[in-house]
Amino acid sequence: RSGYVAIVGRPNVGKSTLLNRLVGEKISIVSRKAQTTRHRITGILTNDDAQFVFVDTPGFQTEHTNALNRAMNRGVTQTLADVDVVLFVVEAGRFDAKDKAVLKLLPEDRPVILVVNKVDKIAEKEKLLPFLAAVTAERSFTAVVPVSATKGKQLEQLLAEARQYL
Ligand code: GDP
Ligand code: MG
Repeated sequence: RSGYVAIVGRPNVGKSTLLNRLVGEKISIVSRKAQTTRHRITGILTNDDAQFVFVDTPGFQTEHTNALNRAMNRGVTQTLADVDVVLFVVEAGRFDAKDKAVLKLLPEDRPVILVVNKVDKIAEKEKLLPFLAAVTAERSFTAVVPVSATKGKQLEQLLAEARQYL
């Protein structure tokens, strides 16, 4: 099995951290500043029986509609049209207008897994329930996987979900 996996989400949700953790090497710049990764970066993870070809995106441009931002969004849309599964990454406990703008641009005809990153920051886990309700009210997802990219939590579960669509 082999297929393309896109990692999308607004800036700072942890896409690069997740990609680096999954692929196991520093192939993408991680920074507290938004949008350090200006270009799409691909990493490859080969497991026992599956090959995941990851496509990182620099983040949808959700503000300031200008020619450059529209062009960047078109690039992302083209990328997503080609992939086997989309990982839509959000930050646990936060779902704002930028997240919604990204979500709106995701393809309808692709499996989309909701990846709730940074769960390590949530002390009261019951607060995740209303948060999840708010996100899943916007779109249906093929799966919901809470993870911590920095702590490496639940990444095997995420791969197992994504693997089904390769
Ligand atoms: P990107 O803009 O979506 O690529 O986000 P980055 O990967 O650059 O991460 C943005 C910030 O979130 C960085 O400071 C990361 O260290 C932090 N971060 C990423 N994943 C996690 C996580 O699972 N837990 C916590 N606490 N912080 C995280
Ligand atoms: Mg990044």
